[in-house]
Amino acid sequence: MDAAAHLEALRARDAAHVLPTYGRAPLAFVRGEGAALFDVEGRAYLDLLSGLAVTSLGHAHPAVTRAIAQQAATLVHTSNLFLTEPMLGLAERLAATSGWDDAKVFLCNSGAESNEAAIKLARRHGKRQHPDKVRVVTLEGSFHGRTLATLEATGQAGKHPPFAPLAGFVDTVPHDDVEALAAAVGPDTCAVLLEIVQGEGGVRPLPDDVLLAARAACDAHGALLLVDDVQAGVGRTGPWWSWQDSPIVPDAFTSAKALANGLPIGALVAHGAAAAAFVPGDHASTFGGNPVVCAAANAVIDTIDQEGILAAAGERSQQLFDGLRTLADEAPFANGVRGRGLLLALTLDAPVAADVERACRERFLIVNAVQPDAVRLAPPLTVRADEVELALSALRDALGAVADAQGQGTV
Ligand code: PLP
Repeated sequence: MDAAAHLEALRARDAAHVLPTYGRAPLAFVRGEGAALFDVEGRAYLDLLSGLAVTSLGHAHPAVTRAIAQQAATLVHTSNLFLTEPMLGLAERLAATSGWDDAKVFLCNSGAESNEAAIKLARRHGKRQHPDKVRVVTLEGSFHGRTLATLEATGQAGKHPPFAPLAGFVDTVPHDDVEALAAAVGPDTCAVLLEIVQGEGGVRPLPDDVLLAARAACDAHGALLLVDDVQAGVGRTGPWWSWQDSPIVPDAFTSAKALANGLPIGALVAHGAAAAAFVPGDHASTFGGNPVVCAAANAVIDTIDQEGILAAAGERSQQLFDGLRTLADEAPFANGVRGRGLLLALTLDAPVAADVERACRERFLIVNAVQPDAVRLAPPLTVRADEVELALSALRDALGAVADAQGQGTV
């Protein structure tokens, strides 16, 4: 079978027996190494999306592969009825990176699950104050997951109607309105849940005054401030955790995505009174704290730490930001750059992001139309300077090609 027929056969199998929840690109990958993905024909693509901000150490990082293989050959699963070294090691590493001596961790399997855990933690904490303290305030444009509770917490109203009625415990306010936020938090609020940089919402850093208003409102009403660091954490925006270079300290934060460089993981990290809210039996996950997944996450954290990856990613961030800024000045459609660290978006003056994504793919570059007018770049934190240059040049070409196709002239 030739490569095109092979791809068609894969797509037919997808259509036949996989529920159609995803709009997939007509591409199948078989192997990855660093920032490169190889398709069924053996062609290399430059992956500047990292599987949606997941493979932050690049594909098949040797330290992570070794940790997975060693742990898989030793002990894969015990359940949480017993202690394992990898699980304890991960809890300690998460506590150390948070900088909280009294940090306590709950481990699970995904971002949505970690946010569910955070919401339950806040309810448990709130209901100890009074039984109606159960409401959660979130911000428009946020994304917190697809389970019923995290979908409701997700401030993208268009995603709600197909699944209504939702439970009705969430109050959503504009992402840049300090007064609306302060007014929404009251005696019945158990938590404010927010992303420091809204990822799916278009790579949008929240203004400092909104963050400060959220902290003040939570303090005034005995509510928990929860930071969703599922996309922005593990060094993606610069520091270990995105709130660490913001003006606020949350009561708890969540992590997932890049924490195990591609194995399914979620984590809730709490401190202070929040860390005392759960008692045995309140929450659980059969696979949470799985030894193989925790061994991978431990290797991720140790590698970032020992190889100075946050500092190197900072340099690549500046290079990518500057290059995108130049495109914003010179290339068709491009009009701005948003984001922090290596979570950046090139903004466009027309809703052509999907066309740009496609044109990049035709030039062997993977990026993502995070909004109709914004292209997201989330390269591995280990991306090299020459790979950043290659990506910028492919992106420039792609913008020119989309403009040509629409009769708007080229760069
Ligand atoms: N929170 C944020 C900020 C996210 O970006 C995502 C996924 O994109 C989630 C939560 C949900 O994570 P998962 O898909 O692992 O459930």
